[in-house]
Amino acid sequence: MNNFEGYKKYLEEMTRCFPNSGEMVNLYNGLIDIWGNSKTDDLLPLLSIEKLSNGLYLLDENKINQVEFTNCSETAVRVFEVMREKGLKGTESLNGLTSQQAVEVIKMSFNREDRHQNVVIKWILKLSFMSLIEKVKGDNAITGILEQGRFGKCPLCHAPPGMAIVDVVNNIEQRFLSCCFCGFRWPFSGTDCPNCRNNKPEKMSFFAGNSACEQGSKAVSCDECKRYIKTVFLKKRKDSRGFNDLDMDIEDVATIPLDIIASERGYTAVCQTR
Ligand SMILES: [Zn+2]
Ligand SMILES: [Zn+2]
Repeated sequence: MNNFEGYKKYLEEMTRCFPNSGEMVNLYNGLIDIWGNSKTDDLLPLLSIEKLSNGLYLLDENKINQVEFTNCSETAVRVFEVMREKGLKGTESLNGLTSQQAVEVIKMSFNREDRHQNVVIKWILKLSFMSLIEKVKGDNAITGILEQGRFGKCPLCHAPPGMAIVDVVNNIEQRFLSCCFCGFRWPFSGTDCPNCRNNKPEKMSFFAGNSACEQGSKAVSCDECKRYIKTVFLKKRKDSRGFNDLDMDIEDVATIPLDIIASERGYTAVCQTR
């Protein structure tokens, strides 16, 4: 059992500030029920430290058949059902698939380079990724490489970052990027654009919405490449959530108003990059 229940109330509060988000919140409530009560598959066999050491990333797509995705496929069938119930458009072809067919969908989607733009597969794999990240976190070899490198994309799966978190570690402000696909978090420069590496202060800016619901989140934008990344400034939050209490998929939904403002101003999210 995973404790996702608290996020329901959080999203419900967000709906009060941003009434148009009702449908999305409704869908997420269904997903939260699934995440709170489903089993994971061990994705460790898919990783290759050699690949990361060679300047690439951990995930080795060639190893996809080393995982059977038995539990993920059960989760997939439940996710498809929730999408059908909530009337999510564009996903009708997934209605009624068996878990065996779901395994094929998972493997196929997993091996696509643009996998990070497939939110359905992300919802299905979310718990297994969480458990994988717990295993990877304690690995000194990996941590060592992460400390040396400046990864603009996820060191685990090579997807762009979906959001950033600014925390204070040992009295020093540190920015972490959080992968928009697998949820892995890694330290990154506080001044560079994760997309184009521009670090001229005059080209970087940030903006916030009007709503008190955003809990200290702002969109940090780059005028060199016209991208932005939604960023949670932990010390500005009014609730007591810390680094490990944040679920970035939930934060992403809770800060939809920032995406709307960014898009009106002509900016694209970093995670929309291929
Ligand atoms: Zn990732
Ligand atoms: Zn940029």
